[in-house]
Amino acid sequence: MIGMSTNNNTNSNLPELKITSFSGSFSATKNLICYEYGDDIIVVDCGIGFPEKSMHGVDLIIPDFTYLRQNKDKIKALFITHSHEDHLGAISYFLEEFNVPMYSNRLVQEYTKEKMIDRGLKGLLKNTTFKTFVPEDKPVIVGPFKVSGFRVNHSVPSAIAYVIDTPQGRIVHAADYKFDMDPVLDKPADVKVIKKIGEEGVLCMLSDCLGVSKDGGSVPESVLGPTFISAQVAINSLWLITPYFRHNFSTDSNTSLVNLSINILPPFISDKALIDDTLSSSSLITLTSCSFSSLLGIF
Ligand SMILES: [Zn+2]
Repeated sequence: MIGMSTNNNTNSNLPELKITSFSGSFSATKNLICYEYGDDIIVVDCGIGFPEKSMHGVDLIIPDFTYLRQNKDKIKALFITHSHEDHLGAISYFLEEFNVPMYSNRLVQEYTKEKMIDRGLKGLLKNTTFKTFVPEDKPVIVGPFKVSGFRVNHSVPSAIAYVIDTPQGRIVHAADYKFDMDPVLDKPADVKVIKKIGEEGVLCMLSDCLGVSKDGGSVPESVLGPTFISAQVAINSLWLITPYFRHNFSTDSNTSLVNLSINILPPFISDKALIDDTLSSSSLITLTSCSFSSLLGIF
Protein backbone atom coordinates (compact mmCIF):
# COMPACT_ATOMS: atom_id res chain seq x y z
CA MET A 1 0.00 0.00 0.00
CA ILE A 2 1.47 3.37 -0.99
CA GLY A 3 0.07 6.61 0.36
CA MET A 4 0.61 10.30 -0.15
CA SER A 5 -1.10 13.40 1.11
CA THR A 6 -1.14 17.07 0.27
CA ASN A 7 1.31 19.21 2.19
CA ASN A 8 2.13 22.88 2.74
CA ASN A 9 2.29 23.52 -0.98
CA THR A 10 -1.48 23.40 -0.96
CA ASN A 11 -4.05 24.93 1.36
CA SER A 12 -2.99 24.02 4.89
CA ASN A 13 -6.19 25.40 6.43
CA LEU A 14 -8.12 22.62 4.81
CA PRO A 15 -8.04 18.88 5.54
CA GLU A 16 -5.33 16.97 3.71
CA LEU A 17 -6.19 15.06 0.59
CA LYS A 18 -4.92 11.51 1.03
CA ILE A 19 -4.25 9.26 -1.93
CA THR A 20 -3.63 5.60 -1.23
CA SER A 21 -2.66 3.04 -3.83
CA PHE A 22 -3.37 -0.50 -2.75
CA SER A 23 -1.50 -1.96 -5.69
CA GLY A 24 -1.20 -1.59 -9.39
CA SER A 25 1.54 0.98 -9.14
CA PHE A 26 4.34 -1.15 -10.51
CA SER A 27 2.60 -3.90 -12.47
CA ALA A 28 -0.69 -4.79 -14.11
CA THR A 29 -2.36 -6.17 -11.04
CA LYS A 30 -5.03 -5.40 -8.42
CA ASN A 31 -5.48 -1.77 -9.35
CA LEU A 32 -7.27 0.06 -6.57
CA ILE A 33 -6.64 3.65 -5.51
CA CYS A 34 -8.59 5.55 -2.89
CA TYR A 35 -8.97 9.29 -2.58
CA GLU A 36 -9.75 10.46 0.94
CA TYR A 37 -10.72 13.93 2.06
CA GLY A 38 -12.08 14.49 5.55
CA ASP A 39 -14.83 11.95 6.13
CA ASP A 40 -15.19 10.91 2.51
CA ILE A 41 -13.46 8.31 0.36
CA ILE A 42 -13.97 7.50 -3.29
CA VAL A 43 -12.34 4.41 -4.76
CA VAL A 44 -11.11 4.20 -8.36
CA ASP A 45 -10.84 0.73 -9.89
CA CYS A 46 -10.97 -2.62 -8.17
CA GLY A 47 -9.08 -5.24 -10.12
CA ILE A 48 -7.68 -8.68 -9.53
CA GLY A 49 -4.07 -9.80 -9.56
CA PHE A 50 -2.80 -12.79 -11.47
CA PRO A 51 -1.20 -15.70 -9.59
CA GLU A 52 2.47 -16.40 -10.19
CA LYS A 53 3.90 -19.85 -10.94
CA SER A 54 4.62 -20.53 -7.31
CA MET A 55 1.03 -19.83 -6.18
CA HIS A 56 -0.30 -23.35 -6.58
CA GLY A 57 -4.06 -23.61 -6.39
CA VAL A 58 -4.63 -19.86 -6.43
CA ASP A 59 -7.12 -18.75 -9.07
CA LEU A 60 -7.01 -15.02 -8.55
CA ILE A 61 -5.77 -12.40 -6.13
CA ILE A 62 -7.96 -9.64 -4.78
CA PRO A 63 -6.81 -6.41 -3.12
CA ASP A 64 -6.41 -6.28 0.65
CA PHE A 65 -9.48 -4.35 1.86
CA THR A 66 -8.27 -3.96 5.46
CA TYR A 67 -7.82 -0.18 5.31
CA LEU A 68 -11.17 0.21 3.60
CA ARG A 69 -12.85 -1.93 6.27
CA GLN A 70 -11.35 0.31 8.94
CA ASN A 71 -12.84 3.33 7.16
CA LYS A 72 -16.02 1.72 5.90
CA ASP A 73 -18.33 4.62 6.76
CA LYS A 74 -16.23 7.02 4.74
CA ILE A 75 -16.53 5.12 1.46
CA LYS A 76 -19.09 6.84 -0.77
CA ALA A 77 -18.61 5.60 -4.33
CA LEU A 78 -16.65 3.38 -6.68
CA PHE A 79 -15.48 4.57 -10.10
CA ILE A 80 -14.11 2.16 -12.74
CA THR A 81 -11.94 3.29 -15.63
CA HIS A 82 -12.26 0.39 -18.09
CA SER A 83 -13.13 -3.24 -18.61
CA HIS A 84 -9.88 -5.08 -17.97
CA GLU A 85 -9.66 -7.69 -15.23
CA ASP A 86 -6.93 -5.84 -13.35
CA HIS A 87 -9.34 -2.90 -13.08
CA LEU A 88 -12.72 -4.57 -12.57
CA GLY A 89 -12.13 -8.21 -11.59
CA ALA A 90 -12.53 -7.73 -7.82
CA ILE A 91 -15.60 -5.46 -7.89
CA SER A 92 -17.99 -8.18 -6.74
CA TYR A 93 -15.81 -8.84 -3.67
CA PHE A 94 -15.68 -5.11 -2.93
CA LEU A 95 -19.43 -4.64 -3.29
CA GLU A 96 -20.11 -7.56 -0.95
CA GLU A 97 -18.51 -5.46 1.79
CA PHE A 98 -19.18 -1.88 0.71
CA ASN A 99 -22.62 -1.07 -0.59
CA VAL A 100 -21.89 2.10 -2.59
CA PRO A 101 -22.89 3.21 -6.09
CA MET A 102 -20.62 2.13 -8.91
CA TYR A 103 -19.90 4.54 -11.79
CA SER A 104 -18.52 3.14 -15.04
CA ASN A 105 -19.20 2.63 -18.71
CA ARG A 106 -21.86 0.08 -19.67
CA LEU A 107 -19.41 -2.61 -20.73
CA VAL A 108 -17.92 -2.63 -17.23
CA GLN A 109 -21.44 -2.84 -15.80
CA GLU A 110 -22.31 -5.88 -17.90
CA TYR A 111 -19.08 -7.72 -17.07
CA THR A 112 -19.62 -6.97 -13.39
CA LYS A 113 -23.19 -8.27 -13.48
CA GLU A 114 -21.98 -11.46 -15.16
CA LYS A 115 -19.35 -11.98 -12.49
CA MET A 116 -21.93 -11.52 -9.75
CA ILE A 117 -24.18 -14.09 -11.36
CA ASP A 118 -21.23 -16.49 -11.81
CA ARG A 119 -20.47 -16.17 -8.09
CA GLY A 120 -24.11 -16.72 -7.11
CA LEU A 121 -24.58 -13.13 -5.96
CA LYS A 122 -27.97 -12.37 -7.52
CA GLY A 123 -29.11 -10.67 -4.30
CA LEU A 124 -26.12 -8.37 -4.38
CA LEU A 125 -26.76 -7.66 -8.03
CA LYS A 126 -30.30 -6.54 -7.17
CA ASN A 127 -29.07 -4.25 -4.39
CA THR A 128 -26.22 -2.65 -6.31
CA THR A 129 -26.62 0.80 -7.83
CA PHE A 130 -24.96 0.85 -11.24
CA LYS A 131 -24.57 4.35 -12.63
CA THR A 132 -23.45 4.90 -16.21
CA PHE A 133 -20.70 7.47 -16.37
CA VAL A 134 -20.70 9.50 -19.57
CA PRO A 135 -17.72 11.85 -19.84
CA GLU A 136 -19.72 14.48 -21.72
CA ASP A 137 -22.38 14.68 -18.97
CA LYS A 138 -22.36 16.92 -15.91
CA PRO A 139 -19.83 16.09 -13.18
CA VAL A 140 -20.86 13.69 -10.43
CA ILE A 141 -20.73 15.24 -6.96
CA VAL A 142 -19.74 12.88 -4.14
CA GLY A 143 -19.23 14.80 -0.89
CA PRO A 144 -16.25 17.14 -1.46
CA PHE A 145 -15.32 15.43 -4.75
CA LYS A 146 -16.53 16.69 -8.12
CA VAL A 147 -15.84 13.95 -10.64
CA SER A 148 -15.84 14.57 -14.36
CA GLY A 149 -13.99 12.68 -17.06
CA PHE A 150 -12.72 12.42 -20.59
CA ARG A 151 -12.41 9.64 -23.13
CA VAL A 152 -9.14 7.85 -23.72
CA ASN A 153 -8.34 4.91 -25.99
CA HIS A 154 -7.22 1.44 -25.04
CA SER A 155 -7.58 -2.14 -26.29
CA VAL A 156 -11.14 -2.06 -24.94
CA PRO A 157 -13.75 0.53 -25.88
CA SER A 158 -15.04 3.45 -23.82
CA ALA A 159 -12.15 3.79 -21.37
CA ILE A 160 -12.53 6.79 -19.09
CA ALA A 161 -9.99 8.99 -17.35
CA TYR A 162 -11.43 10.71 -14.30
CA VAL A 163 -10.89 14.33 -13.30
CA ILE A 164 -11.39 14.59 -9.56
CA ASP A 165 -11.75 18.13 -8.26
CA THR A 166 -11.13 18.42 -4.53
CA PRO A 167 -10.84 21.43 -2.20
CA GLN A 168 -7.06 20.88 -2.34
CA GLY A 169 -6.84 20.82 -6.10
CA ARG A 170 -7.49 18.79 -9.21
CA ILE A 171 -6.43 15.20 -9.68
CA VAL A 172 -6.40 13.41 -13.04
CA HIS A 173 -6.73 9.64 -12.80
CA ALA A 174 -5.91 8.13 -16.20
CA ALA A 175 -5.39 4.41 -15.69
CA ASP A 176 -4.39 2.73 -18.96
CA TYR A 177 -4.60 4.97 -22.00
CA LYS A 178 -3.36 5.75 -25.44
CA PHE A 179 -4.32 8.23 -28.13
CA ASP A 180 -5.82 6.47 -31.14
CA MET A 181 -7.14 8.82 -33.80
CA ASP A 182 -8.63 5.88 -35.70
CA PRO A 183 -10.06 3.66 -32.98
CA VAL A 184 -11.84 0.47 -33.97
CA LEU A 185 -14.84 0.35 -31.68
CA ASP A 186 -14.51 3.65 -29.95
CA LYS A 187 -14.38 7.41 -30.20
CA PRO A 188 -10.98 9.12 -30.32
CA ALA A 189 -9.53 10.41 -27.06
CA ASP A 190 -10.86 13.83 -26.03
CA VAL A 191 -7.68 15.72 -26.88
CA LYS A 192 -9.32 19.18 -26.73
CA VAL A 193 -10.78 18.45 -23.32
CA ILE A 194 -7.43 17.15 -22.09
CA LYS A 195 -5.70 20.31 -23.31
CA LYS A 196 -8.23 22.52 -21.50
CA ILE A 197 -7.83 20.54 -18.28
CA GLY A 198 -4.07 20.93 -18.50
CA GLU A 199 -4.37 24.69 -19.08
CA GLU A 200 -6.63 25.02 -16.03
CA GLY A 201 -4.02 23.30 -13.86
CA VAL A 202 -3.66 19.86 -12.33
CA LEU A 203 -2.32 19.17 -8.83
CA CYS A 204 -1.43 15.56 -9.60
CA MET A 205 -1.92 12.99 -12.35
CA LEU A 206 -2.00 9.29 -11.56
CA SER A 207 -1.65 6.51 -14.09
CA ASP A 208 -0.74 2.85 -13.99
CA CYS A 209 -0.33 2.68 -17.75
CA LEU A 210 2.36 0.16 -18.73
CA GLY A 211 4.88 1.64 -21.10
CA VAL A 212 3.92 5.20 -20.28
CA SER A 213 7.52 6.07 -19.46
CA LYS A 214 8.75 5.04 -22.91
CA ASP A 215 9.16 7.63 -25.64
CA GLY A 216 7.10 7.39 -28.80
CA GLY A 217 3.62 6.11 -29.49
CA SER A 218 1.77 2.88 -30.03
CA VAL A 219 0.19 1.71 -33.25
CA PRO A 220 -3.56 2.17 -33.76
CA GLU A 221 -5.66 -0.96 -33.24
CA SER A 222 -6.82 -0.68 -36.86
CA VAL A 223 -3.43 -1.63 -38.30
CA LEU A 224 -3.28 -4.89 -36.40
CA GLY A 225 -5.81 -6.78 -38.52
CA PRO A 226 -4.08 -6.34 -41.91
CA THR A 227 -0.73 -7.07 -40.26
CA PHE A 228 -2.05 -10.30 -38.83
CA ILE A 229 -3.52 -11.37 -42.15
CA SER A 230 -0.45 -10.55 -44.24
CA ALA A 231 1.74 -12.44 -41.78
CA GLN A 232 -0.46 -15.48 -42.06
CA VAL A 233 -0.59 -15.32 -45.84
CA ALA A 234 3.18 -14.86 -46.01
CA ILE A 235 3.89 -18.01 -44.10
CA ASN A 236 0.99 -19.85 -45.72
CA SER A 237 0.08 -21.34 -42.42
CA LEU A 238 -2.87 -23.65 -42.02
CA TRP A 239 -3.03 -23.18 -38.29
CA LEU A 240 -3.27 -20.14 -36.14
CA ILE A 241 -2.62 -20.67 -32.50
CA THR A 242 -3.15 -17.54 -30.47
CA PRO A 243 -4.20 -16.57 -26.99
CA TYR A 244 -7.53 -14.81 -26.72
CA PHE A 245 -7.90 -12.30 -23.91
CA ARG A 246 -11.59 -11.82 -23.56
CA HIS A 247 -11.42 -8.22 -22.42
CA ASN A 248 -9.18 -7.04 -25.26
CA PHE A 249 -12.34 -6.61 -27.19
CA SER A 250 -11.24 -3.89 -29.60
CA THR A 251 -8.03 -5.63 -30.49
CA ASP A 252 -9.49 -9.05 -30.97
CA SER A 253 -12.57 -8.05 -32.89
CA ASN A 254 -10.54 -5.84 -35.11
CA THR A 255 -7.55 -7.95 -35.71
CA SER A 256 -9.93 -10.16 -36.40
CA LEU A 257 -9.02 -13.33 -35.05
CA VAL A 258 -12.59 -13.94 -35.99
CA ASN A 259 -12.47 -12.47 -39.50
CA LEU A 260 -9.25 -14.28 -40.11
CA SER A 261 -10.92 -17.55 -39.36
CA ILE A 262 -13.73 -16.82 -41.80
CA ASN A 263 -11.62 -15.53 -44.65
CA ILE A 264 -8.41 -17.43 -44.46
CA LEU A 265 -8.31 -20.14 -41.90
CA PRO A 266 -11.52 -22.13 -41.82
CA PRO A 267 -10.41 -24.58 -39.15
CA PHE A 268 -10.67 -22.01 -36.39
CA ILE A 269 -10.47 -23.67 -33.05
CA SER A 270 -11.15 -21.75 -29.93
CA ASP A 271 -12.75 -21.77 -26.57
CA LYS A 272 -16.29 -21.26 -27.83
CA ALA A 273 -17.65 -20.46 -24.40
CA LEU A 274 -15.09 -17.75 -23.92
CA ILE A 275 -15.89 -16.00 -27.16
CA ASP A 276 -19.65 -16.49 -26.75
CA ASP A 277 -19.33 -14.91 -23.36
CA THR A 278 -17.48 -11.90 -24.66
CA LEU A 279 -19.85 -11.36 -27.52
CA SER A 280 -22.95 -11.74 -25.41
CA SER A 281 -21.74 -9.19 -22.87
CA SER A 282 -20.74 -6.76 -25.51
CA SER A 283 -23.73 -7.25 -27.73
CA LEU A 284 -25.98 -6.06 -24.93
CA ILE A 285 -24.59 -2.68 -25.74
CA THR A 286 -24.61 -0.91 -29.06
CA LEU A 287 -20.92 -0.21 -29.16
CA THR A 288 -20.34 -0.60 -32.82
CA SER A 289 -21.77 -1.32 -36.19
CA CYS A 290 -19.96 -4.64 -36.10
CA SER A 291 -22.35 -7.47 -36.86
CA PHE A 292 -22.30 -9.74 -33.87
CA SER A 293 -24.68 -12.18 -35.47
CA SER A 294 -22.23 -12.75 -38.31
CA LEU A 295 -19.46 -13.34 -35.83
CA LEU A 296 -21.54 -15.82 -33.89
CA GLY A 297 -22.41 -17.51 -37.19
CA ILE A 298 -18.93 -18.90 -37.54
CA PHE A 299 -19.59 -21.42 -34.85
ZN1 LIG B 1 -6.14 -1.99 -19.23
